[in-house]
Amino acid sequence: MSALRTTGRRREPRARRSEENSLRRKTLRVARLLEDYLGTPTLGVRRPAPLDMLIATILSQNTNDKNSHRAYTALRNKYPTWNTLARAPLRSIESTIRIGGMAHQKARRIKDIVRHLDQENGGVHLSELNAMRDDEVMDYLTGFKGVGAKTAACVLLFSLGRDVFPVDTHIHRICNRLGLASGVTLPEHTFEIMKPLVPAGQAYSLHTNLIRFGRRVCRANRPSCEICPLYHECVYEGKTRRRPRSTVASGTDHDFMVLDNV
Ligand code: SF4
Repeated sequence: MSALRTTGRRREPRARRSEENSLRRKTLRVARLLEDYLGTPTLGVRRPAPLDMLIATILSQNTNDKNSHRAYTALRNKYPTWNTLARAPLRSIESTIRIGGMAHQKARRIKDIVRHLDQENGGVHLSELNAMRDDEVMDYLTGFKGVGAKTAACVLLFSLGRDVFPVDTHIHRICNRLGLASGVTLPEHTFEIMKPLVPAGQAYSLHTNLIRFGRRVCRANRPSCEICPLYHECVYEGKTRRRPRSTVASGTDHDFMVLDNV
């Protein structure tokens, strides 16, 4: 009995390792198939300052990329330095970013962050993040109200150039359908599951291509499975190749990514 138990205990971690290795290989196949299908995006050399990226990412929550880009541009035009934003009335910030939706909540959160930096940090910037480890940045940023793992991961990836893979609702949906994060209900959990699976150096490419893929092909409703390059990797029970091609979304309009344009 005790020998069996010992064998069972030894096998359990081995089985887990083998499953994780298999998911790692699958993630690599998915990354390559998407690069074949959509190209290999590369992170630009010019990177926005961490606070710019944090504010842009907060503005991108629960809205589309075009409206959040308009809101960010309006904010920058009205407050060319974040010092002036720290002293601006809440109502004025709110009306400036109205086009991005949820303006009151976003204005409150942004104002709280810049005011905190102004009063506690000795300057309205986040340049000290450059010298911090990924987990330290994550802990620090998620300490602000309204900043979750996805927002902090976007700052790490797009501003600090770290190999971190942000998971939004679209990426969460696709990872679920592909069986990389099966049965997971929250993007935050998918983020943790995907951490060891994303091949080194591929976070930006895979993140960007999954978003494009989610807009063009694997949409939340009526995914275009008939043209899907990942059809054989997909375990989604609703997948079908019987739908007429007329439902396929056209390409270029879906490729604008606000966080590449901060
Ligand atoms: S087969 Fe359909 S559901 Fe599966 S990944 Fe492709 S588009 Fe999405």
